[in-house]
Amino acid sequence: MDKVDWPLFGRKLTGWYRPDRRPMPWKGDRNPYRVWLSEIILQQTRVAQGLPYFERFVAAYPTVADLAAAPDAEVMKHWEGLGYYSRARNLLKAARKVVEQYDGRFPATYEGLLTLPGVGPYTAAAIASFAFDRQVAVLDGNVFRILARYAGDPTPIDTGPGKKHFQSLVDAALGDTPAATFNQAIMDFGALVCTPKAPQCPSCPLADRCRALAQDRVYELPVKGKSGKRRERFFHYLVLTDEAGRFLIHRREERDIWRQLYQFPLLEAPTLDLRPAALMELDEWPDWLPAAELHYEGRSTPFLHQLTHQRIGVIFHRFRWSTMGQLPAHYLRIERWELERYALPRVITRYLEESRLTLDL
Ligand code: SF4
Repeated sequence: MDKVDWPLFGRKLTGWYRPDRRPMPWKGDRNPYRVWLSEIILQQTRVAQGLPYFERFVAAYPTVADLAAAPDAEVMKHWEGLGYYSRARNLLKAARKVVEQYDGRFPATYEGLLTLPGVGPYTAAAIASFAFDRQVAVLDGNVFRILARYAGDPTPIDTGPGKKHFQSLVDAALGDTPAATFNQAIMDFGALVCTPKAPQCPSCPLADRCRALAQDRVYELPVKGKSGKRRERFFHYLVLTDEAGRFLIHRREERDIWRQLYQFPLLEAPTLDLRPAALMELDEWPDWLPAAELHYEGRSTPFLHQLTHQRIGVIFHRFRWSTMGQLPAHYLRIERWELERYALPRVITRYLEESRLTLDL
């Protein structure tokens, strides 16, 4: 497979970026104190929730010296409701360190910023780039997700080597682009376009080269190694044919694997070992499918389909449904030869290939 063109990724990303897509009061601010304050408040906090706190802190303590001089109890009171109180304690410790050890000025380098309590690699990179124009790229959950999906990269993100690997990718993507713009762009992109649960792939400016999209693996990436026990799933496909030998298919719309591919009616069950009678008793059995009208014709041997972190056992159950009456609107009744026209999951094409040899499908 060709290497990913990371500089191109960086150019497309920053070409997409517009500051007003996601306006925030600290955006574009180069004052290290306010940048730092906003980053600490936003750790583990949504923007909408953090915003009033940011405004309250800036009003109460306009400079780092004001914050450093404030009584602990007063600062904790301002923080009340935000949770993760160790952040507030570190906030005070860091403000006092800046005043006492750095003469009231924030360190201007990534390494220097890392010496402040509560400032980790991500926050240090954000402050160094936004306030001091340092050429360092941020790496957080958003960035892991975007890079892993764009490159179709299953390297686990929560191991030491995995983090190093993704750091080298984001550094390659940053290249010579000003880091403040690149970092802001990738953060906004992760919040607005390549989101965890509802990525906007159809309108995504990176879609034409996104490998996860091309390989239908968007919802599988990124991969977590430590927690990464493979999920076991059991799929029972109902291969229904009418008197004329036509099949029933529909398009998968769920936010799940194989989205927008076509498939036979599917029941997902807790086990693969289910006879037709047990299948029909499942809650998932479709209301529109009258069990009494079906004639069971047999089932396939099990298929195993391995994805990056899912293992799917699949069985195809063949039924003749002579009447094939009223169908839900999104179901299609099609001829055998027409199946080729539809995009199908690989496991279904494997089944069709194998069954063509043994059955007259
Ligand atoms: S195409 Fe989809 S998965 Fe790929 S980068 Fe864009 S939003 Fe993310």
